[in-house]
Amino acid sequence: MNQRITVSKTTASRLDTVDFNRLGFGLQFSDHMFQMVYEDGRWHSPEIIPYQPIPHEPANTTLHYGQTVFEGLKAFYAKSGVNVFRPDKHATRLLNSCERMCIPVFEKEYFTEAIDLLVQIDYDWIPRQRGHALYIRPLIYSIGNFLGVKESDTYRFLIMTSPVASYYEEGLSPVKILATDKYVRAVKGGTGSAKTAGNYAASLYAAREAKKMGYTQVLWLDAIHHEYIEEVGTMNIFFLINDELVTPPLSGTILPGVTRDSVLTLGREWGMNVSEREISIKEVFAAAKDGTLQEMFGTGTAAVISPVGKLRYRDDEVIINNFEIGPVAQKFYDEITAIQYGEKEDAHGWIHHVEIASEVLA
Ligand SMILES: *Cc1c(COP(=O)(O)O)cnc(C)c1O
Repeated sequence: MNQRITVSKTTASRLDTVDFNRLGFGLQFSDHMFQMVYEDGRWHSPEIIPYQPIPHEPANTTLHYGQTVFEGLKAFYAKSGVNVFRPDKHATRLLNSCERMCIPVFEKEYFTEAIDLLVQIDYDWIPRQRGHALYIRPLIYSIGNFLGVKESDTYRFLIMTSPVASYYEEGLSPVKILATDKYVRAVKGGTGSAKTAGNYAASLYAAREAKKMGYTQVLWLDAIHHEYIEEVGTMNIFFLINDELVTPPLSGTILPGVTRDSVLTLGREWGMNVSEREISIKEVFAAAKDGTLQEMFGTGTAAVISPVGKLRYRDDEVIINNFEIGPVAQKFYDEITAIQYGEKEDAHGWIHHVEIASEVLA
């Protein structure tokens, strides 16, 4: 890293406006954010500044053409400091997303260094309650002002943070999922494996239809055969069939989830029969009918593990594991959260621990 990150702190903290018993998800933002700008062929002026509105011109190309990428990771309150979960893996994925969207890459050290500083400066914003966390949202977008469809030559990199409640206030609760063969999320050669705005805008219409029918999320199928399972909303998806833990492979159309990777790693260590393979919606319904579909759950940073209790496809609907949390989903949730809060040994080097100076802790 060739430039130091400068720090200008706020003189008017908003911390006292936050009710930590009613956080919700991503609704309020901590006092500070990281900013760095790309101009004249280089990233420069990395700084921590007060969280604030940013003026933009109507011609801003991000608004028109969506040349933008983001990340989502979490920091946890832990004894004597803060545990950031797998920041290196998130940084690598952000760089991969940048590459796909023609956004100039940055030195990875800025990512971890900026997060270290943010969690130190906004330490008091990190919720103390077990299950709650500081959600970290890096965002990079074009700040070019022109109407031609082409790569911008100016960008802004921001990292904001948001204190969030646990996804499920009363423990894990199963969701209802609707598989769609009408809409698709991504196709091979497209942008499905990048965390970029267009993928999410494109998913809203199908999600709206699912909600109208009483389902929480859409299960996406492949764009060519409308048959092979891809992922759910902003989560990767797992099935436990006949004691085989199955998840679709990373073939370029789904997001390479960090939680997905953590589950695969733990499952293999626990001696489970783990497969990254194609799985069709027909296979899932057949397994549900012959009684071999034991569990189905989503994985993602926000919820960690999200059990699926009900699955619909066309006129077929199945209830999974009596609409209850299965023992395997629960075991992954318990293990990953225990590592995140520093209650269990971190045998994989997943935790980046940030010490907080004793005068701050006092
Ligand atoms: C972010 C995301 C995931 C989950 O990734 P994690 O790294 O586990 O949070 C899965 N699918 C999509 C589409 C996503 O945007």
